[in-house]
Amino acid sequence: MHYDVIVVGAGAAGAVAATRISEDPMRSVLLLEAGPHYPTASQMPADLLNGNDNSYFAHDWGYEATANVAGRVVPLPAGQVVGGSSAVNTAIALRGVPEDYDEWAALGNDEWSWEKVLPYFRRLENDLDFDDEFHGRDGPIPIRRHREEELAPVQAAFLRAMRALGYEEAADNNHPQSTGLGLHPMNKIEGRRMSVAICYVEPARKRPNFTIKGDCRVRRIIFDGERATGLEVEAGAGTETITGDRIVISSGAIGTPAILMRSGVGPADHLRELHIDVVRDLPGVGENLDDHPMLGVTFIAKQGMLERSDPVVQVTYRYTSSGGEERNDMQLMPVSQIPTRSGSLLFAIGAVIYRQKTRGRLTLKSADPRVAPHIDERFLEADEDVRRLVEGVRMALDVGSHPEFDELADGVRSPDTAVVLDDEALAEWCKRVASSGFHPSCTAKMAPAGDPMGVVDQHLRVRGFDNLFVADASVMPRCPRANIHLTSVMIGERAGEWLREGPSTTQ
Ligand SMILES: Cc1cc2nc3c(=O)[nH]c(=O)nc-3n(C[C@H](O)[C@H](O)[C@H](O)COP(=O)(O)OP(=O)(O)OC[C@H]3O[C@@H](n4cnc5c(N)ncnc54)[C@H](O)[C@@H]3O)c2cc1C
Repeated sequence: MHYDVIVVGAGAAGAVAATRISEDPMRSVLLLEAGPHYPTASQMPADLLNGNDNSYFAHDWGYEATANVAGRVVPLPAGQVVGGSSAVNTAIALRGVPEDYDEWAALGNDEWSWEKVLPYFRRLENDLDFDDEFHGRDGPIPIRRHREEELAPVQAAFLRAMRALGYEEAADNNHPQSTGLGLHPMNKIEGRRMSVAICYVEPARKRPNFTIKGDCRVRRIIFDGERATGLEVEAGAGTETITGDRIVISSGAIGTPAILMRSGVGPADHLRELHIDVVRDLPGVGENLDDHPMLGVTFIAKQGMLERSDPVVQVTYRYTSSGGEERNDMQLMPVSQIPTRSGSLLFAIGAVIYRQKTRGRLTLKSADPRVAPHIDERFLEADEDVRRLVEGVRMALDVGSHPEFDELADGVRSPDTAVVLDDEALAEWCKRVASSGFHPSCTAKMAPAGDPMGVVDQHLRVRGFDNLFVADASVMPRCPRANIHLTSVMIGERAGEWLREGPSTTQ
């Protein structure tokens, strides 16, 4: 079978791009996904619908990352299902700040300035709380903020404690100038996660020109010279070849660089080590891995005060670290409940760096598509990152010891008092336990031709190919100062428009 456009990966960006391209009835579009396809919400298992908690296991790739120089291995969840990580995530629907996108533009990608991306952030949403020049009312994804009476006990205590301590408040965290304490905008309605599978793919699935295939894992891209002609796909027990005029890789910040490298597009020396034929030497593939390192100060919960069903996150405090040069470089985020092996519940106040100084990298361990890549996060190698996380931990301890938490907390579980009393020990603790905020990104960054580490141009075309594109979190030059689902959907919207309207002429 031959298609006009094939999109590989039905996640936050790929599902959206494919759906938008298929609005042109004259284009045949194939959306390929390694995980299952549940065509309607009524057929989806509970873990994909429950927006009050993440789904970590039932539809997950099971990736692991090396977090730090000491080699600590941490889980790096990523959705494997139509909907991708959009279908398993916390449903926080936060935009980056305008400076994030203006930075992308300043790096040579002028199509991605705040002014240029705002219409797409508006297009993707139906904001049920705000109606003004910054918010959309007609888009597929409904967004609302919890009301205070809907907050889980830990979230409500955090809000009250922060207010009592005098922290600044934000009426709307998606206002471009917002900073401070606020109820998270969320793509969750009555507890149901409104993923791209539900909001984009389901309403479009019956279009005659739109084919969605689940349980199809792409092994590699097939090339004829420097033109991508098709894909080698594992489906059922066998392997088949599917051809297309234009191919869009949207397999996420881990899957996309892995597919490119397996196909011979990546750092030539690394590919040769693995006996992969080099189609094009692109040293930037897999480099520049960005994320949001985080850790939680955990508290022992008093018996019977928390429920496993408490929504995991509803509130956040977006702030600029003391002495920080960049606005909103940090967040403090209460986590309502964390189950332990014994069955008791903990809760946490997480400190998250939204502008880390270091970058990681992703390399292949093997040319075999069944072997996961090596993901090296390199968290907290910069003193500035350690300093900010230590400050965040001290703030979390301060808030958590406020009387508003007396009813809930039976003391701090971690870090130990001895560690808290010693600045150096606390810094070491942060380096040891910092983990991923689940926002891997930037591993196939867009950049102008002069940047040797660029992988795609600003119209998302892979360097050196006229019919191969990448559209997902991997094209971000830098991770925005927000959870990145909404930005990934925005990227899908833009890719969808460009590929629907025809190839862009700008290289
Ligand atoms: C547990 C969790 C919680 C999160 N919470 C939030 C949150 O609350 N708010 C927020 O903003 N962000 C959150 N994120 C991050 C956010 O969901 C992702 O950053 C975003 O979905 C990335 O979009 P993407 O299109 O790049 O990749 P994905 O959405 O991950 O989609 C990639 C798709 O490609 C498929 N794929 C990969 N390889 C292949 C292959 N070889 N063949 C075929 N298909 C393939 C995958 O199965 C997947 O469906 C969370 C992430 C996780 C994992």
